[in-house]
Amino acid sequence: MKIIKNLKLNPYNTFNLNSLAKEVIIIENNNDLEKFLKFIQLSNKSNLIILGRGSNIVLTKTTYDYVFIDRRNSIILKENTIEIDGGVLLNNLIKFLWDQKIVGLENLFGIPGTLAGAVISNVGAYEREIEENILSVEVVDIETRDIFLLKKRDLNFSYRSSILKKWLKENKKFFITKIFIDLNSLIFLEREDDLKQYKSKAYNILKIRKFKLPRGRHVGSFFKNPPHNFAGKLIEEAGLKGFRYKNLVVSPKHANVIINIGESTGEDVIAIENIIKEEVYKKFSILLEREVIYI
Ligand SMILES: Cc1cc2nc3c(=O)[nH]c(=O)nc-3n(C[C@H](O)[C@H](O)[C@H](O)COP(=O)(O)OP(=O)(O)OC[C@H]3O[C@@H](n4cnc5c(N)ncnc54)[C@H](O)[C@@H]3O)c2cc1C
Repeated sequence: MKIIKNLKLNPYNTFNLNSLAKEVIIIENNNDLEKFLKFIQLSNKSNLIILGRGSNIVLTKTTYDYVFIDRRNSIILKENTIEIDGGVLLNNLIKFLWDQKIVGLENLFGIPGTLAGAVISNVGAYEREIEENILSVEVVDIETRDIFLLKKRDLNFSYRSSILKKWLKENKKFFITKIFIDLNSLIFLEREDDLKQYKSKAYNILKIRKFKLPRGRHVGSFFKNPPHNFAGKLIEEAGLKGFRYKNLVVSPKHANVIINIGESTGEDVIAIENIIKEEVYKKFSILLEREVIYI
């Protein structure tokens, strides 16, 4: 377990927002997790946050007391399930599965971030969402230290959401320890040639992602697509493509992406979000809902 005091959080969120942690605690294995659980019993939990790879968050505060970063990375293949630490990167899981000649998650290749982050937001791409593969999730309640297992039906998955995302909005403090994936939801291959085809599909998807998404410091799609519509299209038609607020710019390439081109804070993000929502609402009477998580 690494503890770093007074650390700037810019490199720990893909938006690169300015924010400071009085103490950053990096959890690298399950022993660290035990220590973390003991630690939180004694500490004030009100200004504590947990980060994966920071690719779906807006740091709204200028200072946090404690920031826990989940870097645990164990993947265990069992008879019918795969047991995965919340800190495992989605891309690393996909590559681990390829080594066992198991495929099925290729559409999600290239989504940055951890499995914990992926489950919370029910990540998806190219008509596949992570919920299709989830069996259950093990969670620790940070307030009570109770450990419990949420089965798929308890997780209430929907488009870019889950019961866990709802809990975050309600400011409930929890830690995802493990994610269990149903092996029956994946495909076992026999031939190396077939595996090559799946890998090539994944790398093609990666190429398309790189082509479609702008470069720079951002958190991917900022807003959810409203039913039967596209947030990017609405923002563009509201005349906001390229719009700049302080150091934040609505990407000229993809209007649902906000890029940080200099020094920015969570407050700036809240301001540009409100401007975009207002303009889109004025023009289309549609209220955009953010996909990213404010913490
Ligand atoms: C370039 C780019 C492309 C993207 N493309 C896509 C895409 O195609 N589809 C898509 O759905 N998303 C996409 N995203 C969004 C993002 O990558 C995913 O939501 C990702 O799964 C978030 O994981 P993370 O580890 O970065 O989570 P973070 O952003 O670090 O955290 C997200 C939330 O999870 C909480 N959290 C993290 N770990 C734990 C834990 N162990 N226990 C409890 N809470 C925890 C955090 O407190 C936070 O509230 C993209 C983002 C970027 C920057």
